[in-house]
Amino acid sequence: MKFSQFFIPTLREAPGDAAVASHALMLRAGMMRRLSNGLFAYLPLGLRSLRKLERIIREEMDATGALEVKPTVIVPGELWKESGRWDTMGEALLRVKNRLGGDFVVSPTAEEAVTSLVRDDLSSYRQLPLNLYQINTKYRDEVRPRYGVMRGREFIMKDAYSFHVDEASLNGTYQDMGRAYRRIFRRCGLSVIPVRADSGAMGGSGSEEFMVESEIGDNTLVLCKACDYAANVEKAACKPDFAPLSAAAKEAAAALPPVSRIDTPDVKSIAELCGFLKMDAGKFIKTLIYRASNIECGDAEARGFMSPEFFAVLIRGDLEVNEAKLAALVRAGEVCLADDADVVRLTGAPVGFAGPVGLSGLTIIADETVSAMSDAVTGALAGDAHYRNVAFGRDFTPDIVADIRTVVAGDRCPLCGGELYEKKGNELGHIFKLGYKYTKAMKVSFLDEDGKARTPIMGCYGIGLDRTLAAVIEEHHDEAGIVWPVSLAPFEALIVPVKYGGAAKDAADRLYTELAGLGVDTLLDDRSERAGVKFNDADLIGIPFRIVLGEKNLAAAPPLVELKRRDSGDVRLVELSRAAALIDEEINRRQV
Ligand code: ATP
Ligand code: MG
Repeated sequence: MKFSQFFIPTLREAPGDAAVASHALMLRAGMMRRLSNGLFAYLPLGLRSLRKLERIIREEMDATGALEVKPTVIVPGELWKESGRWDTMGEALLRVKNRLGGDFVVSPTAEEAVTSLVRDDLSSYRQLPLNLYQINTKYRDEVRPRYGVMRGREFIMKDAYSFHVDEASLNGTYQDMGRAYRRIFRRCGLSVIPVRADSGAMGGSGSEEFMVESEIGDNTLVLCKACDYAANVEKAACKPDFAPLSAAAKEAAAALPPVSRIDTPDVKSIAELCGFLKMDAGKFIKTLIYRASNIECGDAEARGFMSPEFFAVLIRGDLEVNEAKLAALVRAGEVCLADDADVVRLTGAPVGFAGPVGLSGLTIIADETVSAMSDAVTGALAGDAHYRNVAFGRDFTPDIVADIRTVVAGDRCPLCGGELYEKKGNELGHIFKLGYKYTKAMKVSFLDEDGKARTPIMGCYGIGLDRTLAAVIEEHHDEAGIVWPVSLAPFEALIVPVKYGGAAKDAADRLYTELAGLGVDTLLDDRSERAGVKFNDADLIGIPFRIVLGEKNLAAAPPLVELKRRDSGDVRLVELSRAAALIDEEINRRQV
């Protein structure tokens, strides 16, 4: 390909809204352009890298035995109503009507579409396991698209959905996909951190997210300094920093003076309360009223909750509630603190004075730390008043005790007790065991060996292509531009004649033909620009091998060319006649 015949509109400066390197470089290198908030168009150069990424993913998926399909992007709303996500997905789901008034969605993900495909033709256990994947456009009406294609509204996802007769078979495919993901990211030159994740609104349990460390990451990862424990903070656990109440402590609690009410006028915060009572925050039981929305699994009654959407949460005063863990526990799409008016209505007290003693009509969920509190202070369900001498089990009994605290740096690793620390991360891929959520809701069945109808169990596996490409640029760039790994470079070699004319033109053309013959993706900079402009563009675009043809070197005997590697910056003079073979050799050595 000749530069003059290609379309690479490079920019000297990135537009001001490009806050991260990958966004700025993708624009400056002429890989893509912004059409609107969260909408980006790939230009020819960017598309070449995207296609190479697709190829890597396709090869690795095919190697696992997954089969590619091409579902539609626009999907009947009926399917989403069947799964229940028409209601629970919220504003992220772009709904459209056709001319007859029929409801459709622009796929943000494709559990429904693929489950429906399988449902129509699945009859026997002999057809299972089945793992179908697509590499296709998705649309999510993200609240705040940002960082270029990292969080767009329209993006490309590889998503796979597997169907199995039983959990053992699902586990096998889940492991295979985890291995394939590791290979994919390795081939992209990415260092990913696989972390235990929260499967959140997707339902089911058992999932792993593939993260890259990133200052602009939307995720907080909790890692252990001593072992390989790594978790999303949404799921992270820690070694309890409390001992369960011993028999002696229980006895002491029983002997504790009865709950007594104390006046706490003008005390509004925990800090003020601690100052007022001269105690540690760890002696206080915080009581928070939460509201659940997008409840997934049936209605509140089925969950055994007293109030349809509201519940009370207790946690030790020095800790914070982890809302993702809480939402997973109550199987809600989301949980948020109740409005002040609801708190007053439900607790009979102003905000800040709720407490578990005497609280009725609400399901009470306690963090496990609370179960070790035998002499605590709580709100008294009345304005300007608290209770002291409050003991777990004696003065109140929660309906549910679970781990719902937010783990923070400095807590202890749940596996080895080592010190935990935090990193920001960006999610590139996610694999999870979905269980029966969709196959049950959408009534999928097959006949087992005994001729009995059964529901298949599912897994699903996603990778965002645009975000992965941006992450590669984040990890591989310098001040001058992108430093592509060979595997994803839009071109592998760039021939730069200092002047495209005379002997240099002949040599460049011949070298081009030779490289093309070896199957090396080559770009020939045939523009009549100054050498400095060509070199700057070369560094910006980031092609791994650059061959510079200058008059003086070509006039040597034998003729020489300058071979520069973009990654190390190493420059060597090599014989023109050997340049193509050398590059071919290095490329092949570096392909994983
Ligand atoms: P996030 O928490 O970043 O929104 P998610 O949990 O919604 O991600 P999944 O539903 O698991 O993501 O989608 C699978 C993959 O699709 C993600 O790992 C990511 O690479 C990609 N992806 C998701 N949302 C976007 C987006 N708005 N723009 C680009 N890629 C995305
Ligand atoms: Mg999302």
